[in-house]
Amino acid sequence: MAFEGLADRLQNTIQKIKGKGKVTEQDVKEMTREVRLALLEADVNFKVVKDFVKNVKERAVGQEVMESLTPGQQVIKIVKDELSQLMGGEESKIAVADRPPTVIMMVGLQGAGKTTTTGKLANLLRKKYNRKPLLVAADIYRPAAIDQLETLGKQLNMPVYSQGTDISPVEIAKQGLEKAKEEHLDYVLIDTAGRLHIDGELMDELVQIKEAVNPDEIFLVVDAMTGQDAVNVAESFNDQLDVSGVVLTKLDGDTRGGAALSIKAVTNKPIKFAGMGEKLDQLEVFHPERMASRILGMGDVLSLIEKAQENVDEKRAKELEEKMRSASFTFDDFLEQMGQVKNMGPLEDLIGMIPGANKMKGLKNMEIDEKQISHVEAIIQSMTAKERQDPSIINAGRRKRIAKGAGRSVSEVNRLLKQFEDMKKMMKQMTNMQSGKKGKKGKG
Ligand code: GDP
Repeated sequence: MAFEGLADRLQNTIQKIKGKGKVTEQDVKEMTREVRLALLEADVNFKVVKDFVKNVKERAVGQEVMESLTPGQQVIKIVKDELSQLMGGEESKIAVADRPPTVIMMVGLQGAGKTTTTGKLANLLRKKYNRKPLLVAADIYRPAAIDQLETLGKQLNMPVYSQGTDISPVEIAKQGLEKAKEEHLDYVLIDTAGRLHIDGELMDELVQIKEAVNPDEIFLVVDAMTGQDAVNVAESFNDQLDVSGVVLTKLDGDTRGGAALSIKAVTNKPIKFAGMGEKLDQLEVFHPERMASRILGMGDVLSLIEKAQENVDEKRAKELEEKMRSASFTFDDFLEQMGQVKNMGPLEDLIGMIPGANKMKGLKNMEIDEKQISHVEAIIQSMTAKERQDPSIINAGRRKRIAKGAGRSVSEVNRLLKQFEDMKKMMKQMTNMQSGKKGKKGKG
C-alpha cells in the first residue's frame, strides 16, 4: 500500500504527543525532527520538507496550541492541516467549458499510464458526471497506442477518433475536436504521445497541439512510483505547457509517497485524480484532506462510504439484509454479497480507510488472504442450485462431491457449512432480540 512507511512513522510520532496536557518547545522540536526524517525517507522533496517543518513548528508553539484545552490533539490537527495543504488543501474541480465540448489534453512520459488514464477519465466523466466523451488518438509514435485506445473505447462503448499514423497529431487533434462538435459530444480527451525522457521535439509538438485546440485542461499524467523523478518531470512539463492539473498513477503500488507530497508544492499545480489500479474504474478524485487523514491513521470514512455506494446496489443490499433477518439467506446470496465486497477493491486498501485500523496490530499484520475468499467461492460454486438454497440436504456424500469439485478438503467444506449455519443462527437471535424490543416499545 502507498505511504505505508510514512504512515507508520508519522503515526508513531504523533502518538507520543497525543495525550499531552502541555506541549513544550522541546516536545515540538522532537516531534518536528521526527516528522522531518519521516518525510525525507518517503522521498519528499528536500525544500518542501523544510518549509513544511517550519510551518508546523511555528504554529505548534503558537497561540492556537497554548490556548487549547487539548494541546496534544491541537498539534496533531496542525500536522494534519499542513499535510492536507501540502497536497493542495481542497479537492479541485474538473473544468466545464462555457460552450461544449470541453477539451482535455492528456500529456506525460511513456509508461506513466496516459492512455489507460484517458480511458479511465472518460469512464469517470460518464459515470459520475453523466458526460459524453470522445477519445482522440493523437499518439502516432508508440506503435500500439492507437490500438490500445480503440480497445479501451470498445470496452467502454465510447467513440474513438483515430486517423492512423500518417497525418500529424496536431491535425488529428483538430479534426477530433470538429468531430465532437458535429456529434454534440461534451468532452474531448486527447491522448498525446509520450517519450521515455523529456525532449524538445516532443514538447514542441505538444505546444502546437495546445495552440491548435486551446484545451480547457491539460492533465499531466505522472507515475507515483518514480518518486522524485515524477516531480522533476512535472516541473519540466509545467514550464513548457502550463498544465492545469496532475493525475498521479499507480498510487496502488507501494510508493513511498514523495511525489504525491511534493508535486503541488513544487509546481503549484493540484493533483486532481489518482490512479489506484489497472482497471478502468480505478481512478479516483484526489482529496488532499482525506489522504492526509489516511496517512495519519485517522481513516477515510467518506471514501469508504462512497466506495460502498458505488459498488453496492442499495436495493439489493436491503433485500439481502431482509433475507438475513428472516434467516432465508442462502449460499447464492452469500456468494453475491462476497462479490459486492470484492468489487470495492482489495481488502487491504479498505482496511486502511478505517480510522485507527493501522494501530490495531492484529489487523495490520493480518495477511488478508484473498485466496481464502476464492476457496470459499469455489466451494459454493461446486454446490448444486438446490444445495445452495437448502444446505440442510448436504449429507456426507454430497460434501465429498463438493470438496472434489472445488479442489478443497472435506473439512474445509464442513467448516464453511458450519460457519454459515452459525451465522444464520446468530442473525435469527439478533432479529428476535430486536423485534422483542420493538414489541415492548409498541405496547408502552
Ligand atoms: P502510456 O505509455 O503513458 O500511455 O501508459 P499506459 O497507459 O500504456 O500504461 C502503462 C502501464 O501502467 C500499463 O500496464 C497500465 O496498465 C499501467 N497503469 C496505468 N495506470 C495504473 C495505475 O493507476 N495502477 C497500476 N497498478 N497500473 C497502472
